[in-house]
Amino acid sequence: MRVVLLGPPGSGKGTQGELLARQYQVPHVSSGDLMRDHVGQRTELGQQVARYLDNGDLVPDDLVLAVMGRAVREAIDEGGYVLDGFPRTLAQAEQAYALAEPAGATADAVVYLSVPDDVARERLAGRASAGRSDDGDADVIERRLRVFHQQTEPLLEFYRERGILVTADATEPPDVVADDIRRALEDRNLLPRPR
Ligand code: ADP
Repeated sequence: MRVVLLGPPGSGKGTQGELLARQYQVPHVSSGDLMRDHVGQRTELGQQVARYLDNGDLVPDDLVLAVMGRAVREAIDEGGYVLDGFPRTLAQAEQAYALAEPAGATADAVVYLSVPDDVARERLAGRASAGRSDDGDADVIERRLRVFHQQTEPLLEFYRERGILVTADATEPPDVVADDIRRALEDRNLLPRPR
């Protein structure tokens, strides 16, 4: 099973990523988690990316690729992936494709978790207490939403053209969204059987 999750901040990519990865027994690869790990451990890369995360800006593609290239390759070796937060720009999508194609491991499906901005805003403001430095601050939230619309939304067309895009209504509670995703993937025949 190889899936990419796309959606604005606050759409539940992390939650759905964990559920899908558990169900299909493939690694859940979250670019945000990997970068926060680097920041927390004060690696060289962590020091380079911290300010982007704090401001709600995208980390430059070459730095993202340095982290994600390796993580995606490792996941492919383990039999698949649920990618959460990557790719997030068209350049990243093209590089991800180039990386996975030789291994016959491009995505089977891309799931778009759709939520209106006002719902995302509310969730992110409420999530601040969970301790993420980029949640809670209204200016940073606005910037992340703007970045999503400008840089990431164009990927929907990229994947729609490839015939692998499904959309789920991510305003629903997590278990309902998970069922919705499963049904959408089944209906479109994009779902390999659970291992
Ligand atoms: P969310 O989707 O809720 O904003 P993430 O954990 O996916 O949360 O991302 C948090 C931050 O990490 C982003 O605002 C960005 O700074 C950085 N980031 C994560 N993935 C990428 C990526 N693929 N490209 C560039 N920056 C990224």
